[in-house]
Amino acid sequence: MGELTTSSQISRGASPGVAAAATPPTKVPLLDLARENGQLAEEMAAAFSRVMSSGRFVLGPECEQLESAIAERCGTMHAIGCASGSDALLLSLMAAGVSNGDEVVCPSFTFFATASAITRLGATPVFADIHADTFNIDAASVAAAITPKTKAIIPVHLFGQCAEMKLISDLAVEHQLTVVEDCAQSIDASYNSLPSGSMSAAGCFSFYPTKNLGGCGDGGMITTSDDEFADRLRLLRAHGMRPRYNHKVVGINSRLDTIQAALLLVKLPWLAKWTSQRVANAARYQNLFNNTDLTDRITLPTVAAGCDPVWNQFTIRVADGKRDALREHLRSCEIGSEIYYPIPLHLQPCFAEFGYARGSLPVTEAAADDVLSLPIFPGLTEAEQARVVEAIAEFL
Ligand SMILES: *Cc1c(COP(=O)(O)O)cnc(C)c1O
Repeated sequence: MGELTTSSQISRGASPGVAAAATPPTKVPLLDLARENGQLAEEMAAAFSRVMSSGRFVLGPECEQLESAIAERCGTMHAIGCASGSDALLLSLMAAGVSNGDEVVCPSFTFFATASAITRLGATPVFADIHADTFNIDAASVAAAITPKTKAIIPVHLFGQCAEMKLISDLAVEHQLTVVEDCAQSIDASYNSLPSGSMSAAGCFSFYPTKNLGGCGDGGMITTSDDEFADRLRLLRAHGMRPRYNHKVVGINSRLDTIQAALLLVKLPWLAKWTSQRVANAARYQNLFNNTDLTDRITLPTVAAGCDPVWNQFTIRVADGKRDALREHLRSCEIGSEIYYPIPLHLQPCFAEFGYARGSLPVTEAAADDVLSLPIFPGLTEAEQARVVEAIAEFL
């Protein structure tokens, strides 16, 4: 998710005559990885030195252990580690045979990697619009975008909430298309009790530090229950080489580092607890905002029927063109916030060749103009959340 914003120090304002514990925090970071990693520092250091002395730095035993653990979590037969979430998407499209001249339907309101995986293969991204309430791809817009050249659909489970997979799967069956889920923000999220990453040919996960399960660097994984597809992914992530120095296909070099897998294995047992903290934080924001009179000026995030989101982001909409000024105010209060995403992909200069003009995806464009993501990370305190809401109320 863009640039990494961290702050390991939360300073607490201490005014004279007031007990420090009762004083509200003045600063609130958007994300504080130290609160998550800090408590595991010793265990992570031990894992690090174990891998160091093993000398098995790429696809070591910890990688296989992590693959098994993620497959089990997602209820899939296989999980294949790779170097990043971006590569997970690229490898999945390669394994699905996407190439020159094919079209792949995806949202424009997402991180860049969703679409660059398509263009890297010489295929054309066809951008579909989203729902205004969930920010997720609109199956009706996907249906309208399908042509005889369409080969695949990439729904993104944005901000930790699953897209409407039933409708998308139905379209895929009807038109014989491959579905690849972008699960970079949605580990442990579910849709009608089905885990994200288990509802298509391939679930693409990222272990970038800001994701719900973040490593200490880049990492990614692909989940699938198709044996042949899994085998192709394993081949493609290692230069298409099998046996050694024999290449039937041209793959890429995208493997998971043993160090990352070992560190992620230390964090994995905590993920369920961290997710439940994110869920509790989201509920707390709902309560705090409902106790203000702000609800005509901001729109809180919507949870769609059948969805259990994992709140990678808590994203509000700010009415009346006041988003940027509100963000400026929060910045002056030392409260972190971020715009995911300010420029939709269909309007990015590098995709100008695909011929989209402003106005072609109105729901996406409106969202880009008024969304604002607030701190939601596990370990965020009630006082900090109250401060965020108070600062927003002050301004609006
Ligand atoms: C983070 C992210 C990616 C890319 O993952 P990396 O591991 O950073 O390459 C892809 N799609 C979405 C929606 C993301 O948020």
